Amino acid sequence: MTLQGKVAIVTGGAQGIGRQIALTLANAGADVVISDVQKAGAEETATQVTALGRRSLALQVDVTSSTEVEGMVRTTVDRMGRLDILVCNAGITRDTLLIRMKEDDWNRVLDVNLKGAFLCMKAAAPILSKQRGGRIIAIASVVAVLGNVGQANYAASKAGLIGLTKTVAREYASRGITVNAVAPGFIDTAMTRALSEKVREELLRRIPLGRLGTPEDVAAAVRFLASDAAGYLTGQVIHVNGGMYM
Ligand code: NAD
Repeated sequence: MTLQGKVAIVTGGAQGIGRQIALTLANAGADVVISDVQKAGAEETATQVTALGRRSLALQVDVTSSTEVEGMVRTTVDRMGRLDILVCNAGITRDTLLIRMKEDDWNRVLDVNLKGAFLCMKAAAPILSKQRGGRIIAIASVVAVLGNVGQANYAASKAGLIGLTKTVAREYASRGITVNAVAPGFIDTAMTRALSEKVREELLRRIPLGRLGTPEDVAAAVRFLASDAAGYLTGQVIHVNGGMYM
């Protein structure tokens, strides 16, 4: 499953799952561009990728800006020579019950999680298409299929991301581009550390494998989808959730 000679972009790569995806792809041989709104975190991930002997670049990019996203793809091709793998990982939560959810909570989460992935796919697809091959991997969530109290905006954004993934998979299959999603369950990162102890205990009861997932668990699935071994998989959702959803 070597990714030697491939160039990847990971959005939201400054921390958490995105950082681990960047390191796992680098360990498999890829050069990795880290993009994130957080400059310092992106630079730290890029330093860690470089320490693995791969080329890297940290770019400060807000995925909700088409100008910045187009610049990200252009800079990647200019500086790294090509683009093979796009991982749409940037995401946020603004949890609250429907009744209390402000229009701005809805708009912001949909903007980052769904429009952000749309803009990245739209900017990268022509490059992958010209090369007649490539991989697009979106990071969805188990709540896209289960729903979750307090996450109407987030669950809708991730369900939308799965629809986007399947559609782009159909549109680009003839160009040799595969488009898939990885849907993590509850992964131990800053996002879930924000949950109360009570909520975390309740969650654990719902996970047959009896533990939260790790960023490594998610990154392993991304690495597989990015590899030649996954060449006959497209429009799929790989669930990495300890059996929470079967
Ligand atoms: P995280 O908050 O640790 O990391 C998210 C990253 O995205 C941060 O570095 C943040 O700066 C970046 N980001 C936020 N808004 C951005 C924007 N507008 N443009 C560019 N970058 C932006 O979260 P995480 O747990 O590592 O989650 C990574 C992805 O995995 C997200 O899409 C999340 O929805 C998804 N996910 C996480 C879990 C979990 O349990 N942690 C479960 C399912 C899905």
